[in-house]
Amino acid sequence: MNIILLGPPGAGKGTQARRLVEERNLVQLSTGDMLRAARTSGTEMGQMVAGVMDRGELVTDEIVIGLIREQLTNDDGADGYIFDGFPRTLAQADALGDLLKELGEDLDRVVLMEVDDEALVARITARSTCANCGEVYNDNTKPVPDDGVCVSCGEKAEFTRRADDNEDSLKTRLLAYYKQTSPLVGYYYAKDDLSTVDGLQSMDDVSAAIRAALA
Ligand code: ADP
Repeated sequence: MNIILLGPPGAGKGTQARRLVEERNLVQLSTGDMLRAARTSGTEMGQMVAGVMDRGELVTDEIVIGLIREQLTNDDGADGYIFDGFPRTLAQADALGDLLKELGEDLDRVVLMEVDDEALVARITARSTCANCGEVYNDNTKPVPDDGVCVSCGEKAEFTRRADDNEDSLKTRLLAYYKQTSPLVGYYYAKDDLSTVDGLQSMDDVSAAIRAALA
């Protein structure tokens, strides 16, 4: 089963993707995570994209399609892929369709996670992540434990905030979403692949709604 999670920054795609990985033996392909990993390891590409990412603009289609192509051809024994943060442009959506076709695979569902803009800003500016396992915390709804031990991996970890989780780059990211990514809603609706879930519900209710959409 191959699934895309679509939605604005802060909609909860990463959190839900991680849950689906555990439930369904899927591989999560997050271009955001891949690009951050490239930055951390200091590759030439990582250095090239750093400024673009910090400003909240989109990295070129060529780079992200290349990253996805590399991963899709790895035979990892999973039951499918969950795409999180990709595709983000119509060109990326077309490229993904072609890549899946080459592999003899289909796209089974695109789940649009809807969240209003004010909630996005509030979520993102309050967010931090366990540097060890990637578990996401929120200053208001799910604060980092006082003892500094992550509830997910059980390690005493560092909790980091993303460089682009500030109000300025968030505005740019939202604008990029509306200008470049939101046309994908119509694109996948027309292909009959789209389901919409209310991303403002609790995490468990969102998971249940996604499960229903995939049934
Ligand atoms: P979010 O969805 O929270 O904005 P991501 O982790 O998906 O964050 O992406 C972070 C940044 O990485 C984006 O703002 C963009 O600069 C870059 N990026 C990630 N995926 C893509 C993509 N598919 N196309 C272009 N740029 C991307």
